[in-house]
Amino acid sequence: MKAAYFKEHGASDKIIFGDYRDPVPDASDVVVGVRACALNHVDVLLLDGRFPPPEGLPHVNGCEVTGVVERVGAQVRDLSRGQRVIVFPGFSCGRCEYCLRGERTVCTRYGYLGAHKDGGYAELVKVPAANVLPLPEAISFTAGAAVPLAMLTAWHALVVKADVRPGQTVLVQAAGSGVGSAAIQIARLAGARVMSTVGTDDKIEFARRLGADHVVNYRRQDFVEEAKRWTGKRGVDVVVEHIGGDTFERSTYALTRLGTLVTIGSHDTHWGRLDLRHVYSKNLRIVGTNLGTVLELQHVLDHIVAGRLTPVIDREFPLKDAAAAVQHVLDRKNKGKVLLVP
Ligand SMILES: [Zn+2]
Repeated sequence: MKAAYFKEHGASDKIIFGDYRDPVPDASDVVVGVRACALNHVDVLLLDGRFPPPEGLPHVNGCEVTGVVERVGAQVRDLSRGQRVIVFPGFSCGRCEYCLRGERTVCTRYGYLGAHKDGGYAELVKVPAANVLPLPEAISFTAGAAVPLAMLTAWHALVVKADVRPGQTVLVQAAGSGVGSAAIQIARLAGARVMSTVGTDDKIEFARRLGADHVVNYRRQDFVEEAKRWTGKRGVDVVVEHIGGDTFERSTYALTRLGTLVTIGSHDTHWGRLDLRHVYSKNLRIVGTNLGTVLELQHVLDHIVAGRLTPVIDREFPLKDAAAAVQHVLDRKNKGKVLLVP
């Protein structure tokens, strides 16, 4: 098969488009013919070596995949060749203490498609059949590829971890990102009012169209002051944070008493400071999360079919131009998800 892979760490120019080993399914696996694969920030960490692929190089990135079943393992009963599917990207053992508690995203042997295994920057990808859901006819392959990591993670953060309620106020960092563009819509769907940050003025209208009531260009405006002003000095109930560093620390200052910050990524740095006085005196909750459940992915798909949520696609690149697609994201030019299409 053809794939966009890398055999040494570095910048986007290390991505090679060419022949790569065909995936061979085990008895409980399927091989999916990729129709669309979305890019994620973790792809860059894998590429530049900050998060080296656990199975070594060469490696194929790509966590978010939609496609068509091409081959099924001998034990797979409920999937058939030609079926349109979407892949849940988290792998878990099913046997450890956390899996037995139903918390598979903190499995002691947890892994991601495209990180711990070769992913979807390819014509074919191998996944356990248990990770495969039918993709409804109403959802295109490209729209579906924006869902399994970005939209599902935003859903789990807001609905499950932050338990966001009608009438609450939510600050979503970086409206232009995949997670940000999803989180604005989900917070609105939950009945909250939403403030969001952007880094360029051309993203202000984009964030408003997604449902943000108040949009702040963080390069020109102090988002903490804006959050206070927007809420009548009170502060917001929930922050969706995925930047790290100063943005993480300052996000906690935007919270009201009993507020919740959900951290779902560390785009700029893995580190962030906390003023502990704010945390204990205001009874703040600082909550980590990653991904969500297969059932929640199904819920998100149902909302998309019903028109209540819309995957936001910035641009599609042909698979052979994967290096250009990665550079497009690195340059922060995207509004929503960037996709590869074989
Ligand atoms: Zn486990």
